[in-house]
Amino acid sequence: MSGPVAALRGQFPLLAADPGLHYLDSAASAQVPRVVLDAVAHHETTSRANVHRGVHRLAEAATLAYETARERVARYLNVVPAEVVFTSGATGAINLVAHSYAGLLAPGDEIVISELEHHSNLVPWQLAAERRGLLLKALPVTDEGRLDLGALDRLVGRRTRLIALAHASNVTGAVTDVARVVAAARAVGARVLLDGAQRAPHGPLDLPALGVDFYALSGHKMFAPNGVGVLWARGELLAAMPPFLGGGEMIRRVTLAKSVYADPPARFEAGTPPIAQAVGLGAAADWLGTLDWPAIAAHELRLAGRLMDGVAAVRGARLLGPAGLQSRLPVVSVALAGAHPHDVAQLLDARGVAVRGGHHCAQPLMDRFDVDGTTRASLALYSDDGDVDAFLDGFADAARRLT
Ligand code: PMP
Repeated sequence: MSGPVAALRGQFPLLAADPGLHYLDSAASAQVPRVVLDAVAHHETTSRANVHRGVHRLAEAATLAYETARERVARYLNVVPAEVVFTSGATGAINLVAHSYAGLLAPGDEIVISELEHHSNLVPWQLAAERRGLLLKALPVTDEGRLDLGALDRLVGRRTRLIALAHASNVTGAVTDVARVVAAARAVGARVLLDGAQRAPHGPLDLPALGVDFYALSGHKMFAPNGVGVLWARGELLAAMPPFLGGGEMIRRVTLAKSVYADPPARFEAGTPPIAQAVGLGAAADWLGTLDWPAIAAHELRLAGRLMDGVAAVRGARLLGPAGLQSRLPVVSVALAGAHPHDVAQLLDARGVAVRGGHHCAQPLMDRFDVDGTTRASLALYSDDGDVDAFLDGFADAARRLT
């Protein structure tokens, strides 16, 4: 590792403390840099209080920190703060839309999802479909593990109200061609939701340029604490949407007979929010905004290419995902014939290599490829050649032992 990327790994205390650890599970949760840990500690030691409702100085400091975090996240996404709703994570964000936006839909309206969705962008729509009498249609996946966008013509029609897709797959790493999806949606007046949980940690996002209507992400995958995430939605949509959860903070006036709701984003933030976590996410967004992304992307993809080439040379190994590095995240999933992914992951763990083995909360995609699960190595900006070497040695050894 050299240049701007070399200095990044040293900013992660957990990685610096354990040189024998090869953390290749960043798609599940990324590690947290010192700057984010410091921001959280500073908040908790100088400004900890509840937000919005206090009049004392500490409450004002907490409110300022929380709203500043919203501004920082908004800047990273190139949107206005009033359109940034803090949630518990991507799952919370998608469930919010599946209640509040789907609540505006009529029986018989259609939602297009896909065969490669994480269960977080699938089960909430199944529940909404049951509640509202909606119809779900699923885009198929190509043999390369990409969305088969050719099927949009067939699946998107007069009754389509929403197309809800992963911006990038947590299994195959394929990045969605958003322009094509948006064009298909606009042709019939439908909305587009992107599940950005995987895409968000791999470079700045310009949501207005993407042209979508809803965007969901999780803090813990983008170098921030867990327990916080974001739903971004166009202001006019948020304004039209009823609340999801009821409670404190989301109201303007409550009587025993009825309540008048607050304007967004407060309308969608019932109860005490994850304040310190949001402060951490704001710090992560600021930090991400300072990085040399062309250098990082080149670095991540070079390592992903090494992983893909190395795994392809192992007998019985089958890569689930695009063969090339175009429109792809550094997420490499491999099925090993005759070996259970949990066994592979355990043997790797004995060598200090942390990977995810299993169905990755994407069982329909496992069905599509007729596998029980895969071993997934997922990289982040702090990954290095030593991580790749350790994985490839361990994977080849696991293949020798298990098959
Ligand atoms: N979508 C995708 C593509 C994911 O990879 C994940 C996390 N594995 C989620 C949604 C859900 O994220 P969270 O559990 O943080 O809500």
